[in-house]
Order: sequence, then C-alpha cells, then structure tokens
Amino acid sequence: MKRGIAAQVPETRPTILFLDHSAQWSGGEIALFNLVTHLNQEKWKPLVVLFEDGPLRTKLIEAGIDTKLLLLDPRVSKKRKDALGAKSAVRLRELRVICRFCSRLARLMRREKAAVVHCNSLKADILGGIAGKMARLPVIWHVRDRIADDYLPRPVVFGFRWAARLLGVTVIAVSNAVGKTLHFPQTTEPSRFKKAFYNGVNGVVVHDGLSSPEVLGGETTATIGMVGRISLWKGQHIFIEAAARVHQRFPHYHFQIIGSTLFGEEEYEKQIRAQAVQLGLENVLEWTGFRSDIDQLLHQMEIFVHASTTGEPFGQVIVEAMLAGKPVVATNGGGVPEIVQEGQTGLLVPMNDAQSMAAAIIWLIENPEIGRQMGQAGRARALEHFSIQKTAGKIEGIYSQLLQR
Ligand code: UDP
Repeated sequence: MKRGIAAQVPETRPTILFLDHSAQWSGGEIALFNLVTHLNQEKWKPLVVLFEDGPLRTKLIEAGIDTKLLLLDPRVSKKRKDALGAKSAVRLRELRVICRFCSRLARLMRREKAAVVHCNSLKADILGGIAGKMARLPVIWHVRDRIADDYLPRPVVFGFRWAARLLGVTVIAVSNAVGKTLHFPQTTEPSRFKKAFYNGVNGVVVHDGLSSPEVLGGETTATIGMVGRISLWKGQHIFIEAAARVHQRFPHYHFQIIGSTLFGEEEYEKQIRAQAVQLGLENVLEWTGFRSDIDQLLHQMEIFVHASTTGEPFGQVIVEAMLAGKPVVATNGGGVPEIVQEGQTGLLVPMNDAQSMAAAIIWLIENPEIGRQMGQAGRARALEHFSIQKTAGKIEGIYSQLLQR
C-alpha cells in the first residue's frame, strides 16, 4: 500500500495525536519520528504535539508532519526522572502547573478532533493520560523505559504502574523486558497490554554493502565502536577498560565512542576522557561527539559494542548495527537478549564486566569468518523482525481496534 501524503487526502482521516515532552534527537524521539513518518497517511492524520522545541520538531516539519508546540513550564519539563524521589515529590506550585497544562492539552485534543492520543515519553504518558481522560479519548502509552527501581526512583515506579491501571490506558511495551516491569495483572484484557512491540528501523536507508571483510581480522586499521549518548549507565567506562585490554593484544585496532552527553552528564565525560588517557588510548580512541550519519559510521565499523550497565529497555542502536551487518558484543540485560541471538548474531556478556567484554571482542577479532556470518545473520534478523514498516502496521492495527470500540 502506498505510504506518504496523497494528493487528495480527505479530511475525514482520524487524527492520531502524538505527545512527547522532549524534542531532543534521542532514542525514543528517533523511534517516534520513524513511526510517524511511516504511518499510512492515506488512512491516518498524524499530529505531533511537543512540550518543548528542538531538533525533533525541525525534522518533523522537514518531513511534512503537522507539528504543534504546547510549552510546558521547565520546572516540570526539565525535572529529571531520577530526581523524582520521595523527598523531591512534586510541589504544590508544580501541581498547579500540571493541572493547568492538562486542561490546555485536553482543550487542544478536542480542538484538533483527536481520535486517539499516542503518548511517547513518561511525562507525556502522565500528562497525556490525564488530559485524554478529561477529553474522553482513547489513550496509548508507548512505554520505552523499564519501570523498575534500578532505573527510576521507587515512587515513580509505583505511581506509574498504578496510573496505568487507574487511567485505563492501552499500553505498548517496547520489549518483553519492559512489559514485565509494568506488573500488569494476568487478568488484563489482552487488547489493553501489548508486549514486545519492538522499535522498527528503516532498512532502506542503510547501505547494502555490509562489512568490509578484507579488514576484519587483518592487519589494517579496523574500528571497534560504540554508539549512544554519553551517560554512566550506557557504560562508556566499561568499553574503555575493555578497549585497553584489546589494545594490548591488537595495537593496530582503533576505537570509537560516538555520541555526546544529552541530559547534563559532563562530569562523567570528563572522567572517562581522563580514564582513556590514563590507559594509554589517546592515539587509538576517537571521540566523535554527536553524529547524524550513524548508518555511515556503523558501516565503517568492524565490531559494534553495546555496554549498558543496567538493563536497556530495548537498545535501538543494536538493531541499527545489525542492519549494517555488524557482529555485536552487547551486555546481557533488559531487552538486549530479545534482539541479539547469542552466538548467532553476536555475543552477550555480563553487565559491568570489562574483562568478559574484552574477551568477546578478541574472540571476534580472532574468528573473522564467524564474525562476518554473525553480521549477515544480524542483518537478516533486523530486516525480518525489526522493520519500521511492520512496527507501523502493527500499531495502526491498535488504532483501528480502539476506534472500533
Ligand atoms: N544516535 C545518533 N547520534 C549519536 C548517538 C546516537 O543519532 O551521535 C542515535 C542512535 O542511532 C539511536 C539513538 O540515538 O537511534 C539511541 O537509541 P537507543 O534506543 O539505543 O538509546 P536511548 O538513547 O534511547 O537510551
């Protein structure tokens, strides 16, 4: 079926109103962009409402997606989720801001004749859930975070699980790992709780050339890299420690850390840059900063490493690396084992274990043919199980079900 805006689209299309509190270009927002731009726009009219301005809005506008700003007071929008402990419970002033914002959002939903509200971030879930209730609209929470206390403060965990039931929303979890953390009762109506709705990536834009086989295992400079925002729990410090061990055995290999800090973790970046110097990696480790050409960089890599130190909710970037035909070394937590098939598309290693990570990288360097096969199997798996077209189609099925009710 043809996707994209048709010349004479009838205005009778149901409006799907997407909400996100952030307009940064990070994992959840990239996934939202991929979803919205792959919806069948002959059938649905997407409208994205963002609570702040940023690169996501620019890219949506460039892609011809109807986008609106409903600015949220920074006292609420900039409050970090890990700062929402019991002691810093939402203050009265902030509660007033939230109530006023929800009323404005409910009015906007009615004005735009929204048929379904699709919330894409934790703050959007809560605010959109309340506003959707006020506007009497079906609401979807697309949960992209593990609702667990190794990831979020305990009051947020309980509050979120409780609100999901109380507000009667439909929940889409990006992995089984995320689904489990929501603690939905066994008796929950299956149509209200969808597990393992994996993020899709676009297989078309990624090169078909796959790896550069002549480099893997050879004496030429080859790169082992990781991609992701620089953050303690993304584990760049573990990757650096592993890189130092690999460097001792294979001094001609290069390493890349791709990404930048996003939510104020400059201190961590300073520490890991010093760690790299201390371990003698300054000439073989490249810090690229934030890059928009991830598919190109992945294409040039030999081995892709994912190093999260607590369970990753999903790990979209791993799918991107598989799509680029790369063997993956990834930490075994959260949704990662749902993506990486141990021994077939990559190697899983324990979290927080630089020695095992280094051993897995070295094994791949020493077994280049198996590495290549893993890369190819990974690409086939990404195309079969994680395509954005499939994800968008499944989600459109949920919209249809909600509208039939
Ligand atoms: N990314 C990017 N440029 C960078 C670093 C990361 O575009 O310099 C993208 C990456 O390609 C992936 C996303 O950011 O699509 C990260 O998503 P993931 O789910 O892996 O992690 P999250 O940031 O959501 O925790």
